This record gives sequence, C-alpha cells and structure tokens, in this order.
Amino acid sequence: MTQSRRHGTHEVLNQVPPLVGYDVADDPALLSAIRREGCGWAEAELHELGVLAGTAATQELARQANVNKPVLRTHDSRGCRIDEVDFHPSWHQLLRTAVSHGLHATPWADKTPAAHVARAAKFLVWTQAEAGHGCPISMTYACVPALRHSPDLAARYEPLLTSASYDPGLRPPDGKAGLLAGMAMTEKQGGSDVRANTTTAVPAGDGSYLLTGHKWFCSAPMCDLFLVLAQAPEGLTCFLLPRVLPDGSRNAMHIQRLKDKLGNCANASSEVEYDAAVAWPVGEPGRGVRTIINMVSATRLDCVLGSAAAIRQAAVIAASYARLRQAFGAPLIDHPAMTGVIADLSVESEAATTLVIRLAGAADRAARGDAAEAALLRVALPAAKYWICKRTPMVAAEALECLGGNGYVEDYSPMPRLLRDSPLNSIWEGSGNVTALDVLRALTRAPACADALLAEIDLATGDRRVAAAAAGLRKLLTEAQGPDGERHARRLAGQITIALQASLLARHAPAATWDAFSSSRLGASGGANSSPGSLTGPGTPFGSLPDGLDLAAIVARCAVRTG
Ligand SMILES: Cc1cc2nc3c(=O)[nH]c(=O)nc-3n(C[C@H](O)[C@H](O)[C@H](O)COP(=O)(O)OP(=O)(O)OC[C@H]3O[C@@H](n4cnc5c(N)ncnc54)[C@H](O)[C@@H]3O)c2cc1C
Repeated sequence: MTQSRRHGTHEVLNQVPPLVGYDVADDPALLSAIRREGCGWAEAELHELGVLAGTAATQELARQANVNKPVLRTHDSRGCRIDEVDFHPSWHQLLRTAVSHGLHATPWADKTPAAHVARAAKFLVWTQAEAGHGCPISMTYACVPALRHSPDLAARYEPLLTSASYDPGLRPPDGKAGLLAGMAMTEKQGGSDVRANTTTAVPAGDGSYLLTGHKWFCSAPMCDLFLVLAQAPEGLTCFLLPRVLPDGSRNAMHIQRLKDKLGNCANASSEVEYDAAVAWPVGEPGRGVRTIINMVSATRLDCVLGSAAAIRQAAVIAASYARLRQAFGAPLIDHPAMTGVIADLSVESEAATTLVIRLAGAADRAARGDAAEAALLRVALPAAKYWICKRTPMVAAEALECLGGNGYVEDYSPMPRLLRDSPLNSIWEGSGNVTALDVLRALTRAPACADALLAEIDLATGDRRVAAAAAGLRKLLTEAQGPDGERHARRLAGQITIALQASLLARHAPAATWDAFSSSRLGASGGANSSPGSLTGPGTPFGSLPDGLDLAAIVARCAVRTG
C-alpha cells in the first residue's frame, strides 16, 4: 500500500513505504542453488538471517554504521600512541550477528559437506543488510587456508578464528574468545605488483621477524591479526602480525590515518606504518605470494558473493518500488519499458547468484581435495570476479533510476549507499585487468583448468545456444593463448563467465529466465558474442530484452513478501 496522509498544503500521495519486514533469503535462485550443492540443511538458518536482514531495525543499524563513520584516535590525552579506532555501536552489532552465525571462518572447522556453501549463502543474504562489515568477515574467512602453511600458527589461532564469539578490543589474541583477521599487501607504489613491496623484515633470532615500512591500504585495522607481505632476506614473505603482543604490549603498528572513501564508509580503511613490528613467517620464507594467494582466492569468492548480493538487493528494491509507485495511471511495473528493465535486472541477479553458488560448491569440494573442482575454481573464480563485480555498478545505477529522483536521496532507500559501495569488489583483490590477466595465467599454466571449465559448460551443450557459446569460447581460448593474449584477457574473462552462466541457467533456471538470458546475453545468433551494433548483448543498457519473452514470470523471481 502506498501512503496517503493529510498535510496542511497538500496530500502526500503515491509515496512508496520503505521496503522492510521481508525475508532476504526468499530468493528462489539462491534456494535452489544451495539445494543442488547439497546444502538444503542450511535453509532454516538462512531464513532466520534473511528475516533479520530485512527488518527495519537492521536497516537502521546499517544506516547508523555508515553515517557515523569510524574515528581514529592516534594518541591519548597525554600524547602516548594508542592507535585506536572508535566505531559506532551499530557496527559492533552487525559484526556480532555475522560472527555468531558463522559467516567468518567457521566452515574451516566444520567437516559437514557443503559447509562452505552454507557459509557463502549466509554471507550473500546477510551482506544485503550492510556490505562494509563484510570486509573483516571475509578476511577472517580467507586467512585460514594461508595460515595452514604454518601448522604451529594454525594450531594456535585457528580455533579462535573459527569461534562464533565476537570479542572486540585490544588484548593479546591468545586470551580472547574469538579473533578477526585482516590483510595488508598494498603499498604506496602499487598494489597489483606486490613484488615491488618495500617493507622489510629482519630476523629477530627467535623465529620472529621485525617489520619496518608501511601499507597504503589496511582495511579493518581493529582486527587482532594481520597477514602482511614484507621483504625478508629470503625474498617476499607472508607474515602473521598481531596487533597486541603476547605480553600485552602494543605491537609497533601505527595507524597513520583513515581513508576518506567514496563508499564502504562503515569500514575503517587505514594507512599503517610498522616500526620494527613483531611478526612470524607464514609458509616458506621467500614464497610469500604463493602463501597469500590462498587468502586471495577465498576473498575473491566473497567479492563475487558480495556483488551477487548487491545485484539481488538492487533488483528487489527496484521491483518492489515499481510495483507500488504509479505513473500515468498505472503501477510503474506495468509500463512495458519498466517491465523490461526489472526483468533484465532479475535475469542478471539470477545469473550471478546461480554461478557464485556453483563456485562456492567448487570451493567446498576443492577444500576437501577434489582436484577437478579446484581446477574449475582456479579459472572460473577470477573470471566471475572480473565480470560480476564489473556488472554491479551498472545494475546499481539502473536500479536506482527505477526509483526516479527518490533513488538519489539518502533517507529514502539504501540505493545511494548501494551505488557507492558497488565498484569496490571490482577494485580490491585484483582490479579488473589484473583478474582478467589471472584468468589467462591459469589457462596457460594449468591445462586442467581449461578441461574443467569446458567440461562444466559442456554439461548443457544439448541446448544449441549453449553449444554455440561453447564453440565461441573454444575459439577465443585458442586466440587468447597466442602471442597477443593479454589483449583478449577481458573479453575472455567475460565470455567464460557468460558461457558458465548459460550452461547453469540452461540446466537449472525456469524457461522464462533462460530464454531471456540466452536471447540477450549470447547475441542474436545464440553464439557467445553479441553481434556488433546489436541492441541486445551484455554491453547494452538494461531493459533492452528482445520480444516474445515471459517477462511477468521473470519479474516474479525478484518479488518478495513483506509484513
Ligand atoms: C576500500 C578499499 C579497501 C582496501 N583494503 C585493502 C586491504 O585491506 N589490504 C590491502 O592490501 N589492500 C587493500 N586495498 C587495496 C586494493 O587491493 C588495491 O587498490 C588494488 O589491489 C589495486 O592496487 P593499486 O591501487 O595500487 O592500483 P595499481 O596496482 O596501481 O593499478 C592501477 C590500475 O592498473 C591496472 N593494472 C595493474 N597492472 C596491470 C597490468 N599488468 N596490465 C594492465 N593493467 C594493469 C589495475 O587493474 C588498475 O586498474 C583496498 C582498496 C580499497 C579501495
């Protein structure tokens, strides 16, 4: 119901009430994807979290956490360094919920098959409440496989990283009920090329090293532990650096200032300096990239999950608004041009969610030793990170516009925050070019990756449109492995993602969604490239779907019940 209330000068008409009181997990694409991955057992908790995420109270926590930005206190009143970040209580409340539901590192301690899928689905649902606090949650999830390169450190800290207790505060990690972890790789002179890091690490003679230098980006500096890259005598090495040393003294990690950012405002991203800070090597000294790459892979999965979540949230808010807002005598959603936009956003959401949960399944099986799934993940994850994270700002901008001018207004809906947050997942953990080049690297170095990828796509080649996409991809794979390969990297990463989404949707999506995806994302011929100048194709603004589709059925996929 839209609101109608008497005012002194006019009646307030046709204003749409806030979208609250709905179950964020009421997402048919997500629910069927987790059942396929053997994770139906997680549905009850997923709905519990979804209902909580959809409450007005949680939305208020999210707003508060973003408007009351974290504040750095470098010194106390007497001039002593304290390097404390003050957060609004809402931030702690959001994190407490995330940790108590095991959205951080818990699946690493859980032998249940598909535990990583359950965690991924919960992350996808809860991050729709607020995206910024997902940063330390993701890093805590991701640090465990890297930490396992040093079994002693893993034995000491893994039980605390996987604990469901949120225990903030500056105390030695060993005595806490639960820990959060961050990572610090990026320096002033460059983040993509970490081998150019200048921070040095000098052996202290007792197994520890003393780190001196800086990091230009260190998000969530209130974490208890950090994985840090530094140049040791053996070469670039991964280190575990605690914020508080075992004897209770502060480690020499000084927070210089917090970044004033476009979005992600609830999360403190900082610049730090190390002045002979104590740290322990993780993995073999000199093999730092090899060690931290395990963390990078896991955070990349969360980048895709976070982006799929933003796409879904944007589509749901836009659809809900368009159902209730009237223009020219009819609900917006009944105007054909708007029906097409909402349907297109819904298709994008279903494609993103279906693929990312398939990748979470691959991550789960890879973690349990499945080599073929590890090979698929190695190539499909950077491809999906490239493509889905790049699609997110386009979706956010289009969905915002469905609310007209109201979409631009901070207190009307979460849309402005969603748009501001939307480019981030594409930048960190490998910006667009870097992840696309990583796809190429995976294919060049490990032939098993191409085999695993094509095997997955070929599961649906009974459908002629998927068969055409697979043929187009095979051609591009050959071209990209030639001398000019880097030039094709982005196209290749995009096409891999589209072909994977096509294969999955052909097998698992309702016919209406699959028809819309194939006729708009695979090009007029049904092949993997949209034809030049075509009005469909993935580069075209949303809402350009061709004729003859069951748009009502597609739009229904992003309808949620409120109240
Ligand atoms: C909000 C936020 C939080 C962050 N938090 C953290 C954190 O906690 N820890 C951390 O370590 N980092 C963090 N980062 C940093 C982030 O990971 C880096 O910004 C990112 O890796 C890119 O590094 P850079 O900024 O130095 O860009 P550069 O490396 O200078 O790259 C600039 C551009 O050039 C492109 N490029 C680079 N190499 C190539 C190439 N070979 N060919 C073609 N193009 C190329 C990149 O894709 C990019 O578009 C954060 C960033 C942001 C915005």
